[in-house]
Amino acid sequence: MGRAGHVLSKSTFIRGSQCHKSLWLYKHRYQTRDRIGPEQQAIFDRGSMVGRLARELFPGGVDASPPTPFQYERSVAQTAELVGGRTPVIYEAAFRHEGVLAAMDILVRDGASFRAFEVKSSTSITETYLLDAALQYFVITGSGVPLADISIVCINPSYVRRGRLDLFRLFAGASVLAEVLGLQPLVVQRVEELSRVARAKEMPEVPIGPHCRNPYPCDFMGTCWKGVPDYSVFDIARLEEEKKFELYRSGVVSVAAVPDSYPLSDRQRLQVQAERSGEGVLDLRAIAEFVGSLRYPLHFLDFETFQPAVPLFDRSSPYQQIPFQFSLHRCEGPGEEPSHVEYLAEAGADPRDSFTDALLSAVGGTGSILVYNKSFEVGRLTELAELFVERAPSIEGIIERVVDLMTPFQRLDYYLPSMRGSYSIKRVLPALVPELSYDSLAIGDGTAAALAYLGLLEERDPARRAEVRRQLLDYCRLDTYAMVQIFEVLRRAGKS
Ligand code: SF4
Repeated sequence: MGRAGHVLSKSTFIRGSQCHKSLWLYKHRYQTRDRIGPEQQAIFDRGSMVGRLARELFPGGVDASPPTPFQYERSVAQTAELVGGRTPVIYEAAFRHEGVLAAMDILVRDGASFRAFEVKSSTSITETYLLDAALQYFVITGSGVPLADISIVCINPSYVRRGRLDLFRLFAGASVLAEVLGLQPLVVQRVEELSRVARAKEMPEVPIGPHCRNPYPCDFMGTCWKGVPDYSVFDIARLEEEKKFELYRSGVVSVAAVPDSYPLSDRQRLQVQAERSGEGVLDLRAIAEFVGSLRYPLHFLDFETFQPAVPLFDRSSPYQQIPFQFSLHRCEGPGEEPSHVEYLAEAGADPRDSFTDALLSAVGGTGSILVYNKSFEVGRLTELAELFVERAPSIEGIIERVVDLMTPFQRLDYYLPSMRGSYSIKRVLPALVPELSYDSLAIGDGTAAALAYLGLLEERDPARRAEVRRQLLDYCRLDTYAMVQIFEVLRRAGKS
């Protein structure tokens, strides 16, 4: 028997369906799992929060969740009692059948039968969700409880909040009974197969492959991918995953070792050749043209956004990017020291209105506005123009002045081997301005910034709030200062 008195659970069934070795390691070498990062943890927390919220679609139910994940047997017993009684709605109803434990988010009594609802925090139904529901159906009906229907409840991305949350619009449920019934033979066969894997003394030999990230990033990559160097064929830009593994399996691991005869795009070939020769590309004419196309004063601008799964504000949708912060460095003339303006919304209220006002006054009426990866900032500005119709002409004026600082790197006007085939700012900055680094910052990327801001919504300690706000400001300021420094490198190169 496994960790909680059963051989498989819903999550180990899905894990084993992805990779036998992952299931075996989870059962026998649990302590070697990779540490769960804050981003992954936030995804788990979001799932739990959405699951709790969806319960209100069927209010007044009895929660059969175990007090700890090791006490699922209690949940199974409690569920059996509730099912045998008259309880109309059960949350986290737990069942065991053939050594498989599965809990259903919401179980609703329907005459002599039940309807089951599995809640997902994503916006569409995937193959994995269907398999997951098929296993639940197998376990629930196998343990003697009849199911008239089984549905997956997802978030409806086109819901727009107006006033109080409308859960019946926020969530969209669809019956998957037909698909689930069709998957039963596969589930029966797989339960048998995975139970054998889980009980085996020997670890199954499974080489690394595309399955390591699909459908979920495996948390044993730290073990299985140990032999793959930090920079390898897996980092060749835009090379199909199958081809990367083809090279790897044929013994080609380093980028420099890719044979000349191997079919690559021009860009990929350049990445390989630069790695071999240690020499980059510098198209001075193209760089000078780019620099010459800009108009002073130059504004270096960066936004931070967060994406709540459940819309917090009126006129916003699930997972919509809500801008809450910007940093702007302004340079009056070539080589001059930049001035700095920043904005960070108070957590709680909708930040978009004050963000827009602060931005309009910060960027003034003239001069190029440089961003890194234009589609992101322009996308947010376009949304703001749609939201604040009366300010739309001014916002559109900003959009017209936006220039992408990423362009010379994306076009390969400037490429160094240390950029490792990437033109993201996180690769370009250390290659061009190695003395500037995010390493000493408490918040080191946009995802961490979004999580920190979300955390502020709940933070009650004023000292901690002040500290996180300072960390957010430090991070965003460095982002635009990094752009100033990258531009300086281009400007000097363009003059030479
Ligand atoms: S890293 Fe890949 S091969 Fe290793 S256990 Fe995970 S999925 Fe399997």
